Amino acid sequence: MKTIGLIGGMSWESSLEYYRIINEATKARLGGLHSARSIMYSVDFAEIEALQHQERWQDAATLMVAAAQSLERAGADFVVLCTNTMHKLAHAIEANLQIPLLHIADATARKVQDRGMQTVGLLGTRFTMEEPFYRGRLTDSHGLTVLIPNAAKHTIVHRVIYEELCLGLINPDSRRQFIEIMDGLVDAGAEGIILGCTEIELLVKTGDAPVELFPTTKIHAEAAVEAAIAPDEPLPRTTPS
Ligand code: GLU
Repeated sequence: MKTIGLIGGMSWESSLEYYRIINEATKARLGGLHSARSIMYSVDFAEIEALQHQERWQDAATLMVAAAQSLERAGADFVVLCTNTMHKLAHAIEANLQIPLLHIADATARKVQDRGMQTVGLLGTRFTMEEPFYRGRLTDSHGLTVLIPNAAKHTIVHRVIYEELCLGLINPDSRRQFIEIMDGLVDAGAEGIILGCTEIELLVKTGDAPVELFPTTKIHAEAAVEAAIAPDEPLPRTTPS
């Protein structure tokens, strides 16, 4: 079994889910008392959030690279970055590591394609919904058609992530708003919806939309377990987008 290196704390609410799912999936795959070999480097999210909203991405990259290199030195065989948004810095991280990064958008796109879907809705932070590093990767590298909510709804989704979900607050009014937003994406043609922020699956669940949901924490964590258990196949390197 390989050792999974996790960069967590963004937010720790979802890192807890990663840890739980990774161990549950390892037990389900291997049985008995098996659990995952893993190392987590958990950052202070207040610092990261400030850098994101000040657009200080170079400083954020320095922190992410240092975290990833710590995991590498500690013996991780590959790195799992436990947030969609910070994959904006995936290339900087990979460029400074010898071990691979298991990209969350690739794991998610493969799941969508396994279900035979072409058009999906995407919910996440405004960085994830608007910028090419994520949405562009789904369309350009994986050939999916990606629908996002309109600007007013972006603002709601972004606000709920940072002001509620990352603080551990599950608000029924926000859940109703997310359900409405997902219904809008389905009306626009989405065959499935990517919960492209690692805390959204704490708020909405299967059955809250008339189509299949793709929870990225669960998908990414399970992909990490498959990669850890798989016989020595190298993980693909992230291609520049
Ligand atoms: N966990 C979130 C994500 O998956 C948002 C927090 C962050 O900005 O990293 O994008």
